[in-house]
Amino acid sequence: MELRVIDSIAELRQTLSPLRQAGASIGLAPTMGALHAGHGRLIERAVQENDCAVVSIFVNPIQFNDPGDFKKYPRTLESDMEFCRKLGAAIVFSPTTEEMYPQTSQTFVEVSSLTEHLCGKFRPGHFRGVATVVLKLLEIVQPARAYFGEKDAQQLAVVQRMVRDLNVPVEIVGVPTVRESDGLALSSRNQLLTPAERALAPLLYQALQEAGRCIEKGVVDPARVKRAALTTLDRPEIRVEYFEVVDTDSMHPVERIERPVRVAAAIWLGATRLIDNVAARLRSRTASN
Ligand code: AMP
Repeated sequence: MELRVIDSIAELRQTLSPLRQAGASIGLAPTMGALHAGHGRLIERAVQENDCAVVSIFVNPIQFNDPGDFKKYPRTLESDMEFCRKLGAAIVFSPTTEEMYPQTSQTFVEVSSLTEHLCGKFRPGHFRGVATVVLKLLEIVQPARAYFGEKDAQQLAVVQRMVRDLNVPVEIVGVPTVRESDGLALSSRNQLLTPAERALAPLLYQALQEAGRCIEKGVVDPARVKRAALTTLDRPEIRVEYFEVVDTDSMHPVERIERPVRVAAAIWLGATRLIDNVAARLRSRTASN
């Protein structure tokens, strides 16, 4: 199938509706563009597991709590389209802001408890913007499956919860994080790092792995896990925004590590904010504090 690039909601609906009626399954990979191999994995899954794969590329203004961040967010639509074509996507949906928000919205989706910590705590309104645009995209595309990266674990949890709470008939598929060979999680924001910052960036994943190793060895006190891991990030160039051991289901920090957890962190390297997370569970039978 030739790649079609569509920027109008009406045209996208007109294109997808007969396919859906003919029984074709639609897969959606929502992105903000500046596509890399992490997005590529989502798109590949959408292509493999559905009859028609739609990639949305939309830098969603209402999820940016910092207007400067929205302005400097990388935009590379031409090469993104080529990337999607090579992976076998059928449609790129790249609406303008006016198309998605013809007037100031009065309706927003708020997922409450899951967004109290981690990014939700430090980026007010961010997940409200994410949940709202994802619901809009699900309504527009009406896919059988939609693909999200585990790199943004809190976002994945928020979207899963939203579709459950609001009875949206879609399967949300989580896709494992794709990393550079030095461990750095691929991110569109990595291209904003200076060479010196890029050289330090893998320390984030190293610290998370250190935390994971502590937990696997049987350390159940999150404060102790954090102390051990944070020495890795103890550099003047790095500002740690948060480093938390959270319950996988609630995304709330745990007081004692008993069940499977996620260790999630956000750091600033100069003007660039990076996030990452790992899953961890106790392996040892003899837990120690
Ligand atoms: P973004 O364009 O940053 O909004 O990301 C779009 C989707 O791609 C989200 O579901 C992300 O979680 C996912 N994604 C971004 N980076 C990666 C990565 N390194 N590995 C896997 N998925 C990713």
